Amino acid sequence: MLNVPPQAFPAPSSQQRVAAGGRAKVPLKPGRSLMDWIRLTKSGRDLTGLKGRLIEVTEDELAKHNKKEDCWICIRGFVYNVTPYMEYHPGGEDELMKAAGADGTDLFDQVHRWVNYESMLKECLVGRMAVKPIAAPKGMLPEKKVLGASARDLTPSYDWFQTDSLITIVIYTKQKDMNAELVIVDCQDKRLRGEIIVDDHSYLVEVDLDHAVQEDVAVNIAEKVGKVEIILKKKDNIHWKMLGQALESHNTFIKRTERGLFYRKCKLVSKTEVTHDTKLLCLMLPRSTHLCVPIGQHVYLKQTIAGTEVVKPYTPVLPFLPLDFKEPPRHDGAHLYLMIKIYSCGLFTQALDHLQIGDYISVSNPEGSFKKSQVQTSEDLFLLAAGTGFTPMVKLLNFALTEVGCLRTVRLIFFNKTEDDILWRNQLEQLALKDERFEVQFILSQPTKDWVGKQGKISSPLLSEFVKRSRKDSKVLICICGPTPFTEQGVQYLKDLGYSQEEIHTFTA
Ligand code: FAD
Ligand code: NAP
Repeated sequence: MLNVPPQAFPAPSSQQRVAAGGRAKVPLKPGRSLMDWIRLTKSGRDLTGLKGRLIEVTEDELAKHNKKEDCWICIRGFVYNVTPYMEYHPGGEDELMKAAGADGTDLFDQVHRWVNYESMLKECLVGRMAVKPIAAPKGMLPEKKVLGASARDLTPSYDWFQTDSLITIVIYTKQKDMNAELVIVDCQDKRLRGEIIVDDHSYLVEVDLDHAVQEDVAVNIAEKVGKVEIILKKKDNIHWKMLGQALESHNTFIKRTERGLFYRKCKLVSKTEVTHDTKLLCLMLPRSTHLCVPIGQHVYLKQTIAGTEVVKPYTPVLPFLPLDFKEPPRHDGAHLYLMIKIYSCGLFTQALDHLQIGDYISVSNPEGSFKKSQVQTSEDLFLLAAGTGFTPMVKLLNFALTEVGCLRTVRLIFFNKTEDDILWRNQLEQLALKDERFEVQFILSQPTKDWVGKQGKISSPLLSEFVKRSRKDSKVLICICGPTPFTEQGVQYLKDLGYSQEEIHTFTA
């Protein structure tokens, strides 16, 4: 059951009031939370003013609706009357007005591509733009879609062959350094989706298979030649005449940001306490999924809450901090571990907390801008984390200590309210004892009187005390993650201390 007090919700620091990525933070009026919006959409009120009709909208018509009290916006060819939503928009009315009477797709993609606007705004749908989209006829293999001549040479291609028992799809990525993180495969109900990430582009093989296949899917990657094989086991040993029917996005090579998020259902297999309010959730990927979340990247979880799809980002961690760094940890592709703080009046986390072992939840493909190469050349690595902002640091820390040969110092500066809030304190202290390159500094903003450690909030004096080059010319990387204002302040203090933008990475959605 949802138990959300409408007036007090969300609190001033809520994500519903704070747009991700450091954009406008606008206090919403009481009674204007996401939950209130969901209630309004269920009230049966006519939110478009069209009494349930859907219309074709010309560009001229769209342009006329450009005022707050009459505001239409087009997203991916669909037009929404967003006037009723204005006061509920976490980024504020002015942000929405930037796309008033116009195509807001690019703006939307820049700010929060992951928000499920189709579900959130379904009652505001006015209709489609009158321009007919050019779609490949279903069932035919469309020509590759590429973004201009420069991309053409790099466009991957595919082929397939079969034996009595196997179907092998071969993708020639034309990339030398292919690896498991760049290949995402799902096969559900005869529908195969294989995505290859090539820098900021994505190549997709997406077909309705001709015949049924077994549940497990194997992926082989010839890294040096950039060849990826997706191997499916036939359910029946019959000869396939064709691979299957091409789906709309099959054989396309487009910018990643233009590809819709893809979700698969994962099973909750365990839930363990990390602290009084934070849990470690273990999700099992389907056997027919190949997905590895790269360091520093997050996934989106999707739940239907009171009939509306709600999406929130979470950064997978490791099941624990490995202390033995002799060998890189073995990749366990079957499970995702998420360390999640359950907020007492959090819309999404309360629903998550009510999931039972064995329940399913939708998990998206990974996203995020962090690149391993940023840390591979570092000599001094500083990790500034606040609360669950610790999550991207887990894999990063492990990678740095295991695989980055030139590192001299790794220092985690971990900001929390109280001692009870510190995530994996014991493991971090043990790691610091075990590896002399690693140091951890806990800083508490609301300690009890027994706390003998550092006290305070992120500040210039604190950062100048703990963030220091080990040598005058050391290569430094400073990673920051926490509440948006924490991250923004951290960046500003670091710049004031003389660190350059290239030396700082912030984790945002
Ligand atoms: P909301 O309904 O948005 O807020 C309800 C109440 O929760 C608020 O009134 C407030 O009391 C409290 N609250 C919500 N957000 C905050 C906040 N930021 N600071 C203080 N109080 C708050 N969270 C994790 O626990 N683990 C992760 O691995 C993780 N990864 C993330 C990765 C990215 C890229 C981003 C942008 C965020 C990540 N988050 C993570 C935060 C997560 O996406 C949600 O914002 C969070 O779980 C709150 O969701 P909610 O719907 O329960 O809370
Ligand atoms: P929290 O417990 O509320 O706070 C942790 C510490 O940060 C406390 O010492 C707190 O001090 C301080 N702090 C909070 N807000 C601050 C601000 N505005 N300025 C300076 N210091 C501040 O944190 P949390 O509830 O775990 O929240 C973690 C945050 O990290 C969330 O916003 C989440 O969205 C974000 N996150 C982001 C990612 C990502 O990849 N981008 C991943 C995980 C989490 P006070 O005593 O003053 O509150």
